[in-house]
Amino acid sequence: MTTKVNKFDTLLIANRGEIACRVMRTARRMGLKTVAVYSDADANARHVREADEAVRLGPAAARESYLKVDAVIEAAKRTGSGAIHPGYGFLSENGAFVNALDAAGITFVGPPASAIAAMGDKSSAKARMHNAGVPLVPGYHGDDQDDDLLRAEADKIGYPVMLKASAGGGGKGMRVVESTEAFQAALDGCRRESKAAFGDDRMLIEKYLVQPRHVEVQVFCDSHGNGVYLFERDCSVQRRHQKVLEEAPAPGMTPELRREMGEAAVRAAQEIHYVGAGTVEFLLDADGSFYFMEMNTRLQVEHPVTEMITGQDLVEWQLRVAMGEPLPLNQEALTITGHSFEARLYAEDPEQDFLPATGTLERFALDLAGAGLTPDQVRLDSGVESGDVVSMHYDPMLAKLIVHGVDRDAALATLNRALAALDVQGVVTNRAFLQRLATHPGFKNLELDTRFIERNEATLF
Ligand code: ADP
Repeated sequence: MTTKVNKFDTLLIANRGEIACRVMRTARRMGLKTVAVYSDADANARHVREADEAVRLGPAAARESYLKVDAVIEAAKRTGSGAIHPGYGFLSENGAFVNALDAAGITFVGPPASAIAAMGDKSSAKARMHNAGVPLVPGYHGDDQDDDLLRAEADKIGYPVMLKASAGGGGKGMRVVESTEAFQAALDGCRRESKAAFGDDRMLIEKYLVQPRHVEVQVFCDSHGNGVYLFERDCSVQRRHQKVLEEAPAPGMTPELRREMGEAAVRAAQEIHYVGAGTVEFLLDADGSFYFMEMNTRLQVEHPVTEMITGQDLVEWQLRVAMGEPLPLNQEALTITGHSFEARLYAEDPEQDFLPATGTLERFALDLAGAGLTPDQVRLDSGVESGDVVSMHYDPMLAKLIVHGVDRDAALATLNRALAALDVQGVVTNRAFLQRLATHPGFKNLELDTRFIERNEATLF
């Protein structure tokens, strides 16, 4: 336990796009000075325009700019930044970066490197979670990686099974295997993919749950040993294992199940001496059993739905915890009000297999009043404005549309009105696809599981 107090008055945000703008908004409200960093492709980007100060990192390629540890630290030193917020992606789960910041005496707004390492590898994370009494999907996550042994383990688990790269993430290096005959070819393919993406071809095997929901718990820990959960999000609507629409709270949760999952998530975090915002992802089976999948040791893209139902600002919590303060609220003081959805707006073409789209945004606007909506009901977290150029260098997510309503039906109606009111011109987006999802009768009627999009392809594409 540490009682270190890390006061800082200048915050560098080592990210771009909507999350950089979102972090700066809270930092500014808290009276902090904000420093942006940018690549050549982003010299005129919104996050640069909105910061008090901005430092160039390097050329457009992420590995020469946003992923460059030395350049980011140099920028922090040059601007007198006492702390760095990493956002999500880029350096947010990079233990070497955290160690380098520690050595430079700069506060990392996130967990200690040891906690990142403990969850960075899916196999060792599962071993730790087993020890902490967190339920796991039945499977194999051992060190022995002999082909025949893996097949024998898969046979023992029973098909279908899911092969996953231990070092995996972002939906890569995963494959469902239907039978013992198909195992070897799937293993070879998965290993190749994993080696190419992560430089590591160790695999783990899980029982493949046929119709699970993806339910994840937001946790928060401070440096004084306190930990709470800010309830759950349902992220079952996924395309190729990537989230598209998220909501909070998860529909159909009983108070008992909510408490059980929340407490298991806090146990998971405390097992690895976690500090800051984290998300523990579970698969929830139709019978109410839940299984640990992984823990993301950062603020997630979908954190706003949690903010909407709890009334808390998670970035403020992160900054306070990073300053050495205790958590703003204890478990008893946290409550859920209403329902929230988030839709991810991507510059991509659903008509062309979701190919990323580029161009100049001739118009990017949301006329709330015109749609009869209020700022209490709708929040647009965006990294762009009218006139901005969308390049091909980075993740194609442009913005997140987040809504709140008194209950799920009200929030869903608001989501549809807000999606219709969004005026985007000049760049192709997935808006029409999001509208088809949000108006889909199956979605409204809670036919939720991770294969929702796959099952409804005929009516969604
Ligand atoms: P990544 O780290 O690449 O995002 P995850 O382990 O979080 O991978 O899994 C991503 C998604 O894959 C989950 O949200 C779920 O939809 C699906 N999935 C993962 N494991 C299983 C499983 N054992 N059975 C069924 N679906 C699974």
